[in-house]
Amino acid sequence: MTTGDPTTTQTETNPLRVRRGVPETFYDLTLDELTGRIDELGHPAYRAKQLYHWAYHQLASTYDDMTVLPKNLRGELANHLPLTHLQPVTEQESDDGETLKLLFQTHDGNHIETVLMFYPDRVTVCVSCQIGCAVGCSFCATGMMGLTRNLSAGEMVGQVVAAARRARDFDRQLTNIVMMGMGEPFQNYESTMKMARIINDPEGMKFGARRITVSTSGLVPFIDRLAEDPIQVKLAISLHAPNNHLRDTLVPLNRRWKVEELVDACRRYVDRTGRRISFEYCLIKGVNDSDETARELARLLKGLLCHVNVIPLNPTPAEPSYERPSEARIQRFAQVVNDSGIPTSVRYSRGVDIAAACGQLRVEHESASAN
Ligand code: SAH
Ligand code: SF4
Repeated sequence: MTTGDPTTTQTETNPLRVRRGVPETFYDLTLDELTGRIDELGHPAYRAKQLYHWAYHQLASTYDDMTVLPKNLRGELANHLPLTHLQPVTEQESDDGETLKLLFQTHDGNHIETVLMFYPDRVTVCVSCQIGCAVGCSFCATGMMGLTRNLSAGEMVGQVVAAARRARDFDRQLTNIVMMGMGEPFQNYESTMKMARIINDPEGMKFGARRITVSTSGLVPFIDRLAEDPIQVKLAISLHAPNNHLRDTLVPLNRRWKVEELVDACRRYVDRTGRRISFEYCLIKGVNDSDETARELARLLKGLLCHVNVIPLNPTPAEPSYERPSEARIQRFAQVVNDSGIPTSVRYSRGVDIAAACGQLRVEHESASAN
């Protein structure tokens, strides 16, 4: 099932520019790149800024909606540079109406999911960065699929813009982005960071980098790379276990980068950036939820500028024997870590009833790809 990242080139059926298997769209381009493209089409550079404004500030869904632009330019762009190839397929709303799961079809018939969560003080979108995931954590439904391919920057930007539009329908504004949908962002680093740069652009969405969180299962070289990256997104590490014995069974990547190496990289990251790290800890009954494990976790993270988010397991078919601990155990675990000096909170995932919670996202519409 794992096919890696295909490197398709231009095809007869698709005369548009194709990069790594995904035809280029407007949402793939930084403002500089767009300016170059507008110039190639023989239009003045200021049109690029106007386009950025209409696409990311007004959230126009077609070029025709950008009425300030000359009609010939709109037509040329529609022919040469589609805004997006993502097609909305369905949308599911949780029982309490506070969570929406958006399903899109990609140009090659795959499906991706994006989750929009409304809170009283913020609106967060959970964005997918890959179709499937190659890491294969034992408790995660996405991991069961293996990796089909990386998403392009444009496919990630497209999810953000669609979510922002949907939030606007409810008179709300998107305030946070978490890269916690399907996929491992550090196995698609370039495109993920390009997405961040595009939506951060002051001529467009102006989305603050500090309101974007990139979550990783622990690819150590990319933690160092992120520390040097000019765009200052937040970092979350999916730790789930304080020792190698346990973590090897939960996160297969741990056989490559050990817990000690991972935490060393986190210390370097904090030293270099001064930014706090969030550690995600998926709590599984009888596996990683004892008081002793909580104390071991606190010892491991001692002195590190961080916060622990305990996420009670959302049971998935990935490992039917894994269960969510009791409420008392969840609270007790968090309390022990907290009392041992590491700020900790319990984070309940949203959208369990619509299979939109952490780790539940899994493509179930692949039969549609035959059409
Ligand atoms: N691949 C990245 C980001 C996507 S997963 C990563 O692993 O960090 C987003 C978060 O959901 C991770 O912290 C992951 O460990 C958590 N998660 C996955 N499956 C889960 C499940 N069944 N229950 C609770 N959290 C889960
Ligand atoms: Fe991939 Fe994250 Fe799921 Fe692990 S938890 S399989 S890294 S998406």
